[in-house]
Amino acid sequence: MTAQVIDGTAVARHVRADVAKGVEQLVAGGGTAPGLATVLIGDDPASEVYVRNKRRACVAAGMTDLHRHLPADVDQAQAAALVDELAADPAVSGILLQLPTPADLDAEALLARIPAEKDVDGLTTLNAGLLAQGRPGLRPCTPSGVMVLLDQYDVPLQGAEAVVVGRSVLVGKPMAQLLLERNATVTTCHSRTRDLAEVCRRADVLVVAAGIPGLVGADAVKPGATVIDVGIHRGENGLRGDVDTAAVAEVAGKTTPVPGGVGPMTIAMLLANTLTAAEVQQGLGG
Ligand code: NAP
Repeated sequence: MTAQVIDGTAVARHVRADVAKGVEQLVAGGGTAPGLATVLIGDDPASEVYVRNKRRACVAAGMTDLHRHLPADVDQAQAAALVDELAADPAVSGILLQLPTPADLDAEALLARIPAEKDVDGLTTLNAGLLAQGRPGLRPCTPSGVMVLLDQYDVPLQGAEAVVVGRSVLVGKPMAQLLLERNATVTTCHSRTRDLAEVCRRADVLVVAAGIPGLVGADAVKPGATVIDVGIHRGENGLRGDVDTAAVAEVAGKTTPVPGGVGPMTIAMLLANTLTAAEVQQGLGG
């Protein structure tokens, strides 16, 4: 039997439509449209594409695009001054510092200047701490997008064995915490895990974010499991993920495609976070 395909493009479309409705309601209720300040430093072509897509999605959802671009040779003080300016500007609901920044800048120090309530990427220490403590806060976009996919496809989480491959601050760690918050029994794997396939085979829900093309094959999947592929790699034949999807689809119950799985959810959740941030800042809860 071939696994059901989780359609991230369709789910993301719904999330974006809901956000657009939320923006309309905010404005109709006398509030201000959320403003998203994407900050791009330098001219990395991949980052330019990512930022352009985020800006387009923000405008399509009825939000204000407050993008700022700094040249690659900007110094730390100039970059910090821009973050401080955006932090103080009431028109800015969310600040997204596009990573990676040029190598001679300290990205962590720049992130630390973003107020937690404007941290729509969920990457500041305060928001990471709130997540670790199970308290409300802005969550990182990619793992929260995975949670929406799991919910939309009615994947049971309570008491389920969940295995997360990867422990990055951006994906793996918050992913494990979000699954734990939903009462899954969570195991996190990383580059020093002794027998990856053996650990992965325990999973009812397997989330792979290792950054290695095709790392997880059919031998690492329990029959009927839900397999979420966060990886994105550009190859000669287009995009592929961290999972050997064709082989895994013969064993798994549900799988995400690459492209069209987790990827579209990341931008959708950025918009959702920006709306939440604006609502909280305008005193409307969230
Ligand atoms: P990362 O910072 O490079 O982290 C990779 C993690 O995988 C690390 O924790 C590493 O372990 C672990 N790992 C590496 N090799 C492994 C192995 N052989 N077995 C088990 N674990 C291994 O990457 P990331 O930022 O989390 O991103 C992961 C992937 O997701 C990348 O392909 C990235 O492009 C993609 N991504 C996609 C989206 C999206 O929107 N779809 C968003 C973000 C990232 P150690 O900690 O021991 O080194």
